Amino acid sequence: MPIVPDTPIARHGPLHLYAHTIGCQMNEYDTQRAQHILGAQGYTPTTDIRQADVIFLNTCSVRAKAEQKVHSFLGRLRRLKKDNPRLIIIVAGCVAQQLGPDLLRRFEHLDLVLGTRAIPSIGSLLQRVVSRSERLAHLPESEEEGWESLLCKGELTIPGVVAPVTIMQGCDNFCSYCIVPHVRGRERSRRSGAILHEIDLLTRHGVKEVLLLGQNVNSYGKGLEEGLTFTELLRRIHDRTSVLRIRFTTSHPKDLTESLMGAFAELPRLCRWIHLPFQSGSDRILRQMNRSYTAARYMSLIDRLRSLRPDMGLSADVMVGFPGETEEDFRQTMQLIAAIRFDNLFSFSYSDRPGTSASQLPDKIPADVKARRLQELQKLQMDIVLDKNRAEIGGQREVLVEGFSKQSDGNQLTGRTEQNRIVNFQGPVDLVGQLVTVRIHNAFQHSLLGERTGHDDCRWNEAGQPRTQS
Ligand code: SF4
Repeated sequence: MPIVPDTPIARHGPLHLYAHTIGCQMNEYDTQRAQHILGAQGYTPTTDIRQADVIFLNTCSVRAKAEQKVHSFLGRLRRLKKDNPRLIIIVAGCVAQQLGPDLLRRFEHLDLVLGTRAIPSIGSLLQRVVSRSERLAHLPESEEEGWESLLCKGELTIPGVVAPVTIMQGCDNFCSYCIVPHVRGRERSRRSGAILHEIDLLTRHGVKEVLLLGQNVNSYGKGLEEGLTFTELLRRIHDRTSVLRIRFTTSHPKDLTESLMGAFAELPRLCRWIHLPFQSGSDRILRQMNRSYTAARYMSLIDRLRSLRPDMGLSADVMVGFPGETEEDFRQTMQLIAAIRFDNLFSFSYSDRPGTSASQLPDKIPADVKARRLQELQKLQMDIVLDKNRAEIGGQREVLVEGFSKQSDGNQLTGRTEQNRIVNFQGPVDLVGQLVTVRIHNAFQHSLLGERTGHDDCRWNEAGQPRTQS
């Protein structure tokens, strides 16, 4: 089946695509891919949903709240479809994978349901929906090909300085609370050649930083004939492509090997930042979650990372209210947060997900207790973040300039440090895509404010060649 139809969809006037993502970074990536593919078919992105010819909703079922949002969003679209019967509504992602044709039955105004591996086919499927007035659910068993060939043929343009690259999908860990292995399937790694090729194409499109994505990136390579580990993949990307910065997410503590930690000290293009979910500070809860490590082991990994790179940026996921979580368990989680002092923390309340073993556990925590614990935890974390951001004042940071700050009136640039902190500063547009040195003079909860030093002491030149040794 051709990925992109030979002829544009026969409709009059400019076509508009409204895309909305609920959920994780993997979903963000799939939404971007869908936007690029439909962009090649003439669909211009719009932020005005009433202007849309196609509405693309990418969904997440990892948390009950995200799934509820999908249902209410779809419910609200009923009226729009009534006002504009030519409107096409597409649902993709985990909820689409989980419910499949059921979604078409539940929402009669929905046109296309795409499983988690079907994004590369969105163009041809949309054409079928438009030209034949079909309603379809497409849930392929394996990842559909075609993304790189579109890049190769120059049929896609990649806007932006930072691009995500999927290196593996699925997960074998079966954490007791998590639905991902049930909807995304078992781990499947992409061949290194395809990954390097994609990064090479992206850099030719002007991309300066890649974010390697997968549910469990540091177990990359399982089942691949080439017998490559994740650290070896990082080395290949580092040595064989000209991308200026490499990041990856998400990592599992049990797969954080000594060689991977060593890579942060050895590979200058690898950003000093890791997202390493810990979920709980209580060993009893960690066992019930099937996380395969203890709180002490997690802390020793952080100590090791910091001994290798004292400037390491750290973020994590944590959950409150897992079934049976006592005040003492929660206190241990708070102690771990206070001891490690993360730069960023994504915190959630536990919710039952269908088919998971935790959903069968007794001793569910009442909603008000979960809400109180979450609030306490978030207050602690906000204080830590502000404190750490303020400690940046007076220092200089290398910043990759990504574009204009959303809050500014068009003359404030925004970028990130290696540690993933957002830095805003005044500067001309031609700095976008460059590494510059910024002196920090103010700090807020979510960003830093600074000024360019004028002496860009950055380690790489435009062509990605080293300027100075790190
Ligand atoms: S590691 Fe655990 S939480 Fe993460 S995707 Fe796999 S099963 Fe889910």
